[in-house]
Amino acid sequence: MVKAVVGANWGDEGKGKITDMLAQDADIIVRFQGGANAGHTIKNKYGKFALHTLPSGVFYDHTTSIIGNGVALNIPILFNEIKDITGKGVPMPKIMISDRAQIVMPYHILFDQLEEKRLGKAAFGSTKSGIAPFYSDKYAKIGFQVNELYDEESLKQKIKRVLETKNIILEHLYHEKPIDENELFNTLMEYRTMVDPYVADVASFLDKALKEGKTVLLEGQLGTLKDTDHGIYPMVTSSNTLAAYGAVGAGIPPYEIKQIITVCKAYSSAVGGGAFVSEILDKEEANRLRTIGGDGGEFGATTGRPRRVGWFDCVASRYGCRLQGTTDVAFTVIDVLKEYDELPVCVGYEIDGKVTTDFPVTHLLEKAKPVYETLPGWKTDITGIRKYEDLPENCRKYIEFVEEKIGYPITMISNGPSRDDIIYRESKLKK
Ligand code: GDP
Repeated sequence: MVKAVVGANWGDEGKGKITDMLAQDADIIVRFQGGANAGHTIKNKYGKFALHTLPSGVFYDHTTSIIGNGVALNIPILFNEIKDITGKGVPMPKIMISDRAQIVMPYHILFDQLEEKRLGKAAFGSTKSGIAPFYSDKYAKIGFQVNELYDEESLKQKIKRVLETKNIILEHLYHEKPIDENELFNTLMEYRTMVDPYVADVASFLDKALKEGKTVLLEGQLGTLKDTDHGIYPMVTSSNTLAAYGAVGAGIPPYEIKQIITVCKAYSSAVGGGAFVSEILDKEEANRLRTIGGDGGEFGATTGRPRRVGWFDCVASRYGCRLQGTTDVAFTVIDVLKEYDELPVCVGYEIDGKVTTDFPVTHLLEKAKPVYETLPGWKTDITGIRKYEDLPENCRKYIEFVEEKIGYPITMISNGPSRDDIIYRESKLKK
């Protein structure tokens, strides 16, 4: 059976931790979209790791970690990640890379940097990992699948063809030096050596595994609000972050996905630009939450940038859970709210004088003002608690209030960064 672990919000909800936890009982973990532009932070007996490309199952020896065809594969980053974890004592994981995964080319990263610079104030706040140029090329059919590295003659010709247009843009739009085709070919040959031990027909492997009754976890990157189609376009990522895309990006039938665990953080955080209705705009107040937030604070795992933070947003999260097709909500990072006397929760958006609980399209979202209800805090450290009944009453009330507003069952509550910081809960919303 297949379970998906995906995000309800803007990313950084704690999917890495939830995947790592569920991986204890899984056989295969698959990354199905996105690239090295975001990171999962995982804390375990080997140390603290920021994974950008490897799935969060690499710390177990019973799992196979897969990079699916939907991923933007940055080969040197993957290679260095493998070196980093094995260098810190983690046993060499079983890794498979889809022979249909496409490669992030050095010029994708270069174009991402140059374009953000050109846009100046109108920049997207990209992590400059080449993701947008990568997916553009993929759909323009000038991307490179991993298997193409093995057909040297065709590869040389394709490089030549692709560079003709890339170099015109480089020279005439960005006033940069053109790329040399031989150099690029040599780089790709180095990439081939790096990935060679792992390249496989992943879709066929998964088909067999599912027929044998294996448990597969699909690990999403970012969250619904960054989905290319359903997110806050254009301040989105360039791939679909929805569980539905897991079927495409891994190469499995959609009906195999039986459980969709949508990870939802107990307050809001976002990186990059775009509308963020429940953002805490007061600098000091924001810094307070940012500093206590997450594990070691709300700073990007890839970039180190401070994340924008805000109060929990029921409108965005309900929408986020709906588009994912949520069967279970994992409600995370609730332990960090311990310091607050009161907690505002955004329950509606006021747009042109009218209050709505439906998440709107971007141009209306930009006008939305938050409508808050304030709940009492619990002022108690809840780390270490393992039973729902043992949580302070106001904490339970907060969870139940959120559950009612979002309309999806909160069956897991994460109260710390480690694997065992988890509380399972029966929800009356769960059929
Ligand atoms: P992802 O991008 O959704 O995978 O998010 P991460 O896995 O990077 O999680 C964001 C941060 O929150 C990481 O530093 C995690 O260690 C941390 N984290 C995850 N769950 C919890 C939790 O329940 N409590 C605390 N305090 N930190 C958590």
